[in-house]
Amino acid sequence: MLNGNLKLAVQKKGRLTEKSLQLLKNCGIDIELYSERLLISARNFDLDILFLRDDDIPEYVQDGVADIGIVGGNVVAEKQSDVRILKELGFGKCTLMIAVPEHYELNNIHELNGKTIATSYPAILQNYLSENKINAKIIQLSGSVEISPSLGVADCICDIVSTGTTLKMNHLKQSFSVYKSESLLISCKKIFEPEKQNLIDSLVMRIESALNARKSKYLMMNIPKSSLNIIKEKLPALKSPTILALADESMLALHAVIPSDKFWEIQSDLKNAGASDILLLPIENIIL
Ligand code: ATP
Ligand code: ZN
Repeated sequence: MLNGNLKLAVQKKGRLTEKSLQLLKNCGIDIELYSERLLISARNFDLDILFLRDDDIPEYVQDGVADIGIVGGNVVAEKQSDVRILKELGFGKCTLMIAVPEHYELNNIHELNGKTIATSYPAILQNYLSENKINAKIIQLSGSVEISPSLGVADCICDIVSTGTTLKMNHLKQSFSVYKSESLLISCKKIFEPEKQNLIDSLVMRIESALNARKSKYLMMNIPKSSLNIIKEKLPALKSPTILALADESMLALHAVIPSDKFWEIQSDLKNAGASDILLLPIENIIL
């Protein structure tokens, strides 16, 4: 363990495990097949990966047992750990919501005054209630929060919601959004030795490049020379497009990097302007 490698804490088994490891792969980091081991080393980067329960990650990073970690913002906020947020990673998105029994008419947040709310996130909830000047009783549960109203343990709950199916099954409905969360790359706040800081900077740069790439696609098409200006105007390209000559002198090939979500908005305009053989390709990395 004391080998100078960068130590990254990742959730051992759960919703974030696969996406965290996939992100490292997208950064070109080659890791042994993950099995039941608690620690694995990357083959081509000075990186050791520690597998932990997600609840323990903020504290391990705060205390420097791990240098950096990947964990949900909800867990970081709940543990109130003193860590640095290096990057929002765009996966593991979910919302901590207050949910009430279906028959409840709750129109105003102040109607929560005097209610009992069950949650696994007492610190985040208390913060929200204080900000909104609400006096409610919090009951801390470690799991199965959603059944507490039907057991008579609480009036309502505050829990993570992504699709809402679990709430429906328990005859609850969403009312107020308390905290929006996604996975974060966090680091210890201490000053690292230069070698380690370089490893962190390099990893963050690779992560940024992998995240940028996911947002973009490589567009290739053939266009009539006469449509070049119209098509250039339609293109939401990141940089000036590349124009290549073709054997048929009335045609050009045009290549551009565009935001992934814009393609379907512009594709009919491109076709109307005479573009053909349109290819849209994924990009692995972008260094801007
Ligand atoms: P562990 O055994 O590591 O303590 P856990 O059961 O506490 O795991 P998971 O259910 O695997 O945690 O969720 C990990 C993280 O995934 C959550 O803290 C949250 O940031 C995120 N997440 C995204 N969507 C959801 C969801 N629908 N329910 C719960 N967590 C979600
Ligand atoms: Zn957990």
